[in-house]
Amino acid sequence: MSWQDEVNELKAQRNAVILAHNYQVPEIQDVADSTGDSLALSRIAAETDADVIVFCGVHFMAESAKILSPDKTVLIPDKDAGCSLADSITAQQLTEWKAEHPDAVVVSYVNTTADVKALTDICCTSSNAVDVVESIDPQREILFCPDQFLGAHVKRETGRDNIRIWPGECHVHAGINGKELAEQAQANPDAPLYIHPECGCANSAIYLAGEGIVEPERVRMLSTGGMLDSARSEGSSTVLVATETGMLHQLAQAAPGTDFKPVNPRAECRYMKMITPEKLVRSLREMRDEVTVEAEVADRARASLERMIQLGNPGSGE
Ligand code: SF4
Repeated sequence: MSWQDEVNELKAQRNAVILAHNYQVPEIQDVADSTGDSLALSRIAAETDADVIVFCGVHFMAESAKILSPDKTVLIPDKDAGCSLADSITAQQLTEWKAEHPDAVVVSYVNTTADVKALTDICCTSSNAVDVVESIDPQREILFCPDQFLGAHVKRETGRDNIRIWPGECHVHAGINGKELAEQAQANPDAPLYIHPECGCANSAIYLAGEGIVEPERVRMLSTGGMLDSARSEGSSTVLVATETGMLHQLAQAAPGTDFKPVNPRAECRYMKMITPEKLVRSLREMRDEVTVEAEVADRARASLERMIQLGNPGSGE
């Protein structure tokens, strides 16, 4: 039996659904029931009739699915699939930072652990970070964590100078730096630049695009679906893509006539690639690794996510 058949058989036995993030290896994307960005997948998780959700992504994303679907069993095929950005601030560090600024409003990017979300007033995505900050009383100080590039972008866009920014970052962003972005833009002068504002790896590109490294008229900030629609309608033979390279799999399938060039082919998230077919089969067979979030933490974390959703435009990529 192929591993795909085994997955499908186990999935039926467990009444399970498989959700895969856009940055998963192609084989995992192909076997999944749904592929998308973290918020889109969390919404699917909340609506599914399945008893078991196997979340092929990184740990904080599986936690978000659990927070939004507390009654479901959520599994991640490798519990060590973390996120360097989420790991750049701990609950203890945020508690200490808040104690230094007791009147500040805490805004956290969704790439954070459940414990950090539970200490947060309002979450944000890359797409709605500016709107979230603009919704806060201009007189109130803001603690923005953990992504320093998104923080700098928000500070520039809002013109607020009462934002303190945590110096966190995603290791993948180093693969999408200003020099290489400028070189690629020069080498492909007719190519639009697509930025998918989903994960920490894209935030430095958002910041750099705002600095004018690439002509503004060439920059498109697009959801996954938006990238596909735009690639088809623009008819561009070459498109530069500034995100983690896993995104290219779906783009190439949807628009085979277009050459989607990664701004940097080394922009790969090693945590996302820790989920392998073997671990997916093991997860379903042995019902491991289960993701749990303490009820009180989940309630507070859910409140910070819901405040963001109430503002509208959470900017999920699908
Ligand atoms: S690409 Fe960066 S921000 Fe996204 S999961 Fe990987 S380490 Fe985290």
